[in-house]
Amino acid sequence: MPVVVVVGAQWGDEGKGKVVDLYAERADMVVRYGGGANAGHTLVIGGDKVVTHLVPSGILHQRVKCVLGDGMVIDPTTLLEEIAALRARGLCGDGQLLISSRAHVILDYHRWLEAVREEQKGAIGTTRRGIGPAYESKAARRGVRVGDLGRPARLRELVAQNLDEITPLLLAAGRPAPGRAEIDRVIDGALAAGEKLAPMIGDAGRLVDRAIAGGENVLFEGAQGTLLDIDHGTYPFVTSSSTIAGGACTGVGVGPTRIDRVIGISKAYCTRVGGGPFPTEMEEATAEAWRHAGQEFGATTGRPRRCGWLDAAALRLAVRVNGLDGIALTKLDVVRGRGPVKVCVGYRLDGATLDEPPADGEDLLRAEPEYIELPGWDVESRGARTIDDLPAAARTYMSTLERLIGAPMWLVSVGADRADTILLRDPFAG
Ligand code: GDP
Repeated sequence: MPVVVVVGAQWGDEGKGKVVDLYAERADMVVRYGGGANAGHTLVIGGDKVVTHLVPSGILHQRVKCVLGDGMVIDPTTLLEEIAALRARGLCGDGQLLISSRAHVILDYHRWLEAVREEQKGAIGTTRRGIGPAYESKAARRGVRVGDLGRPARLRELVAQNLDEITPLLLAAGRPAPGRAEIDRVIDGALAAGEKLAPMIGDAGRLVDRAIAGGENVLFEGAQGTLLDIDHGTYPFVTSSSTIAGGACTGVGVGPTRIDRVIGISKAYCTRVGGGPFPTEMEEATAEAWRHAGQEFGATTGRPRRCGWLDAAALRLAVRVNGLDGIALTKLDVVRGRGPVKVCVGYRLDGATLDEPPADGEDLLRAEPEYIELPGWDVESRGARTIDDLPAAARTYMSTLERLIGAPMWLVSVGADRADTILLRDPFAG
């Protein structure tokens, strides 16, 4: 049965949580392949809000197995808190969650380092959860992996090695060097968390492979979005991992031939959190109205998100690098009552027309978006259950977008609740 990847097609916060939750109804397994607890998924079930950060939102369906893949960076304390919160609601039962022993661990010193970096020139506005530094440790081959949490001697050695590297950086930034007591606290905390997590730790890649071979419906859930991808995003204002669909292969240990479908999630407009180029950013007065209409405040940090017009050129890049079969368009209801809507169809740069964002960040900052303007609509779309229930202008908006980016709509979301969804094509069908 199909293996489906769901990936953010913009800068993250596209409403992946809701879409994954819906698709998870048809899935036997939901697998996260990258990122850490920076992604906050807000799920609304019958008016009740549940926020998950590390655990895939598929956990809400009791028969769905959830996997934290090799490509993730995991703060064990955050994970334990999340599991406890889910269990308090009767969710995340025994055997439902598997954590890859190959995933990397975020420890306190990653957060200390990130705090220092975020106060320096060139800060990129991260969530300060130590995610970037943990990926640095991984690439530098001195990372602590989840499997190491059960190996005290190796863990101590790795922590000492990391602190040797990091302490001079802390001192240079005017921070104190961590003392013996603090180092012991880091190690003891990690070992204690490792003990609690032990029953859930295992070989995630093999489990997922077996599920695929056994004909199960497997859903890979991406974190953040395409434009934050370490290679294909708006570098250096990106995250430290492969957020694109290909990251599902490297981040789980499943070959590309096993993936059947890739769905990209896009809002009906754009948002971006933190610094970095954002060509279609609205003027603040306009942005503020959209921000409130769309409740664009970070689920993890509460930070207001920057708001912009839909960027079809950026979505074209997402279609290309992810090989998108279809788009799940979210928050279409937010467009209602906002007047005419602009869509960026390309950029002008140094006299040339570009149909995708340029590779260089400074070029992207200088690029002038070219817009078309489409009529808005005032009719409530929230109760819509089929495309025909939508106002004509909303349908035109969608078909124009399909034409501009060369990918069809597979799902349209017209409200936060699960029921406010128009499912056009089922990614698990046939
Ligand atoms: P994610 O990290 O990509 O899941 O994004 P968020 O968790 O930030 O989700 C975006 C927010 O929008 C959440 O509060 C959702 O409940 C909400 N949401 C999702 N889809 C829709 C929609 O179609 N309309 C509206 N109004 N809200 C939505």
